[in-house]
Amino acid sequence: MQKKNKSKVNTQQKITQKSTEEELGKFLKLPAAVNKNLAMQYFIPEWDDKVDAGYNFILDEFSQNRNAYQDDIYAHEIYSQPNYHGILVSKVIIDKKKSKRADIEKAGGIGKFIRFPGEIMGDCGAFGYIKQEEPPYNTVEILDYYEKLGFSYGVSIDHLIVGQFAQSGVREKRYNLTLQNAEEFISKHQNIGYNFTPIGVAQGWNPQKYAEAVKALVEMGYKYIAIGGVARTPTKEILEILQEVSQHLTPTTRLHLFGVGRIDALPYFRHLGVTSFDSASPLRKAWFDAKENYHTLDGKTYAAIRIPFVDKHSIRIKHLLENNYTREHLKQLEQDALNAIREYDKGNLSIDETLHKLLAFDKLLELPRDGQVKDSAKERRLKQHTRMYRELLEDKPWQQCECVICKKIGVESVIFRGNNRNRRRGFHNTYVFERNFKQILEN
Ligand SMILES: [Zn+2]
Repeated sequence: MQKKNKSKVNTQQKITQKSTEEELGKFLKLPAAVNKNLAMQYFIPEWDDKVDAGYNFILDEFSQNRNAYQDDIYAHEIYSQPNYHGILVSKVIIDKKKSKRADIEKAGGIGKFIRFPGEIMGDCGAFGYIKQEEPPYNTVEILDYYEKLGFSYGVSIDHLIVGQFAQSGVREKRYNLTLQNAEEFISKHQNIGYNFTPIGVAQGWNPQKYAEAVKALVEMGYKYIAIGGVARTPTKEILEILQEVSQHLTPTTRLHLFGVGRIDALPYFRHLGVTSFDSASPLRKAWFDAKENYHTLDGKTYAAIRIPFVDKHSIRIKHLLENNYTREHLKQLEQDALNAIREYDKGNLSIDETLHKLLAFDKLLELPRDGQVKDSAKERRLKQHTRMYRELLEDKPWQQCECVICKKIGVESVIFRGNNRNRRRGFHNTYVFERNFKQILEN
């Protein structure tokens, strides 16, 4: 187990959590949904999240003769137990590469292709065609696609009702289309006798419309229903939707929330009938977030240390080269920073000396806007990163994590540098998320 250092979680965060808890508490006082005996499951969306198994971190070299498409490995091939119950694969992701569908069929199905023995849910990826008047697929081809590729679950074709597409006139069309598709989907599924489990989608624009849709889906015969279009909806509003929806569930109805993995809200979601959800947020925060890149079991998060490749194309490095920095000088700063963090990890360098080397490179890395970096932006970065990196160096969370990635690559996991470090850190975050998710539900 990781050392507890809860006292260091900042107070502002505590205050926000507390007021939210008070605000949300009333939902826990409602009667529990009738499907309360079902377990809750976490699915991770698949976006080709893979790494080179034999990457050399010291030399920054890939495995010899590597073919990334075939040879790179998934998180579930690194950990002895997958850090998720199942995987969600969207058709838009498969369609991105022309030969992929044929490759999957050749491999013997989606499970074999992504080398995952557990459950795999397929959907069409409604965000990919949100702007089109109608989804670019028809039910017959989608049923056939789920069956041929060997999915465990297949989601009916839906159309999102969010943002500009939630206007009166548009939303009614999308609402009806989603329900009509669900009806056609389950009736053809039953007639033809497919093997995968069908999931019907509910879209809507207020709690009543969602509830009406869920009621209709239960009446159509769906045992597994998914709520779409709430990935960016505030937690309180999702709970208001669930409060209405839960009245129509049966003791065996399973309910999925698309794109919502808010750890603090999971007990509330479960209380009101949610039995599964998917989220890539812990994974992607490893490289998309400005501050919260490395997560820990006690809830504290850290910024990873930015040491980008001088030799790879990036706007930051290009800007420096155009502004009188030589490549040799930048490469020296890059190497000094890498050496410093590794020596610090071994206990050979003090915090202050390490920070000095890290910041000598880091302070140059502010992203230019309109071809320029303002002094004020540079100063802000230096101040913020000094504080964030010092915190990381003081706590050394990578030395305390017992996951197989941190055990193997150690301090490399907290360096923000290329896919092999960044995505492995994302895998570590997923490991932390799953453990926290299970613990929260047990309590
Ligand atoms: Zn770890």
